[in-house]
Amino acid sequence: MRSTREGWDTSQVTVSSRARTGETPVSDALFARASLVIPGGVNSPVRAFQGVGGTPRFITSATGPWLTDADGRRYVDLICSWGPMILGHAHPAVVEAVQRAATLGLSFGAPTEGEIELAEEIVSRVQPVQQVRLVNSGTEATMSAVRLARGFTGRSVIVKFAGCYHGHVDALLADAGSGVATLGLPTSPGVTGAQAADTIVVPYNDLAAVREVFAQRGGEIACVITEAAAGNMGTIAAGPGVNAGLKQLCADNGALLIMDEVMTGFRTSAAGWYGVDGVAGDLYTFGKVMSGGLPAAAFGGRADVMSRLAPVGPVYQAGTLSGNPVAVAAGLASLRAADADVYSALTKNSQRLGSMIGEALTAEGVAHRVQYASSMFSVFFTDSPVHNYAAAKAAETWRFGPFFHALLERGVYAPPSAFETWFVSAALDDEAFAVIADALPAAARAAAAATQEVAQ
Ligand SMILES: *Cc1c(COP(=O)(O)O)cnc(C)c1O
Repeated sequence: MRSTREGWDTSQVTVSSRARTGETPVSDALFARASLVIPGGVNSPVRAFQGVGGTPRFITSATGPWLTDADGRRYVDLICSWGPMILGHAHPAVVEAVQRAATLGLSFGAPTEGEIELAEEIVSRVQPVQQVRLVNSGTEATMSAVRLARGFTGRSVIVKFAGCYHGHVDALLADAGSGVATLGLPTSPGVTGAQAADTIVVPYNDLAAVREVFAQRGGEIACVITEAAAGNMGTIAAGPGVNAGLKQLCADNGALLIMDEVMTGFRTSAAGWYGVDGVAGDLYTFGKVMSGGLPAAAFGGRADVMSRLAPVGPVYQAGTLSGNPVAVAAGLASLRAADADVYSALTKNSQRLGSMIGEALTAEGVAHRVQYASSMFSVFFTDSPVHNYAAAKAAETWRFGPFFHALLERGVYAPPSAFETWFVSAALDDEAFAVIADALPAAARAAAAATQEVAQ
């Protein structure tokens, strides 16, 4: 079909990546074709491998802990769709729920019982959440939560933390993590001065800085938004007392605390990070795991705040496909299958994987830290603890590309950026761990041999 179209010189694209990662001619050709009609060939920037070089793998199928690419190569998946797939891919209960829902109709634009069940599941798991509204992405959830906080308080200013990523909401892109960090952007063109001016950015884990901001502008601050444990500048848990301190400062100053649990929610425990540190936010955002892998997300919290939303209140928020019955079925089936056994498997698997990585790097004398937030973790190439974005950026991030590619060549698909969390699933089994164990020594050697000049 379109492969006969002129103008694709795939030979140029493939040379460097083949030399670097072995032959993947089908993915290479697909990437060249994609790049003509999709900016950068991808629909979300970090998928493009810009932080590590090379061409991305095009995936054709996935099952359990395995991904299969268009060249027929198989990989142990340590990204899990950037978080959602905690049960592994194509889990029978989730696939069956999706099939059943799809048979009954794809979208109605009218309420369904499944939406109540998903809302009840979330409310029953996270005690400070009394009501939720379903949306389609984590970005929508944080955007709506910020609007609601502003509408509720009648104030404009929001406080966020450097290196935290809350989706691509204009006001939240300042000094953001994830892809913004991978690409080294301070913020994004297209975000107006006014939007940026209402955002105050402070270092993560720096309660004194937040206290200072409240001392100066407390009466203007609508909300503080934080990643309950940060996963978008690598994994950096909130230090002891930090989230509780944020809650206190917000309460003292009439501002709301938004706990962004899009990544941590229903992954770090059955109740997300709230289940780990017990600090109650006023509003919460969820996505990823609660979606089961289809587009679904949510924001929720105190009933007196949520009741300011239309149609009961004046703060407008809506969505043609919000609460989509197929997405709701996937999310509900995933959460229902995510029982105590799944959470203990996630913890066990992340500890096992993190230890294996640490041992391999130690054997090659590579300075590193494996940092955890419950079952989330990431690898920093540094000796010192990493508690904020500045420290994450100061690590030897240039070792990451060679480390990543050595793993990929050997069938292990790690996140393609030094600033991303590694996501395990409960489906990782001994066969998958054997592939990882075989790959790690060479990857550690590649990290050891890396030099700053050739990394990018
Ligand atoms: C992924 C993520 C988002 C954005 O979610 P999308 O569904 O990609 O829009 C927001 N906040 C955090 C903490 C995230 O990890």
